[in-house]
Amino acid sequence: MFDADFFRRWMTATAASVAREAERLTALDSPIGDADHGSNLQRGFTAVTATLEKEAPDTPGAVLTLAGRQLISTVGGASGPLYGTLLRRTGKALGEAAEVSAEQLAEALRAGVDAVRTLGGAAPGDKTMIDALVPAVDALGDGFAAARAAAEEGAVATTPLQARKGRASYLGERSIGHQDPGATSASLLIAALAEASE
Ligand code: ADP
Ligand code: MG
Ligand code: MG
Repeated sequence: MFDADFFRRWMTATAASVAREAERLTALDSPIGDADHGSNLQRGFTAVTATLEKEAPDTPGAVLTLAGRQLISTVGGASGPLYGTLLRRTGKALGEAAEVSAEQLAEALRAGVDAVRTLGGAAPGDKTMIDALVPAVDALGDGFAAARAAAEEGAVATTPLQARKGRASYLGERSIGHQDPGATSASLLIAALAEASE
């Protein structure tokens, strides 16, 4: 079972890895975007950890809804509302339980990813964060390590794709040959889930 502390560790591990990888995320957002993805997420997740420390929500659902709200209010780019929706919707699906099972977590995350798809209109293969998130939730039944591997594979597999959503889509065929920054950060989020469980 996973309690609020586990979900706080997930967010803290994400913040640490986003901070470590911020330059790389921004570099990926340079040829096919506006070179701000790393700084956007670093600002967002720094605010998330600060808020979680201050307000100390005591259920898994409350941790994620608070984190999602914080991302929406601090990240200006497309990724803020999208990641914010992912966490808020996942948190809402977890309800008010003090602890949740791996199955409940997988089901809630699926609802979160579906909400991102509805909000952004991206399908798998459109070269977005969806290309890491969908394989990750599909693999979650086999454990966090499997989800992490699937997300990393999904992120790498965005390289030969042409972007059909977001800023990168403005480049048309010139978006081909670059790994998507959002799919890359999504793989960090899923990797942090595996880290939090160690
Ligand atoms: P912005 O493009 O506004 O500068 P970011 O650089 O922070 O925002 O985030 C860009 C990432 O957001 C992309 O790499 C992509 O993965 C993701 N993204 C953009 N638009 C969408 C969308 N409609 N659906 C899903 N993900 C999207
Ligand atoms: Mg950007
Ligand atoms: Mg931007």
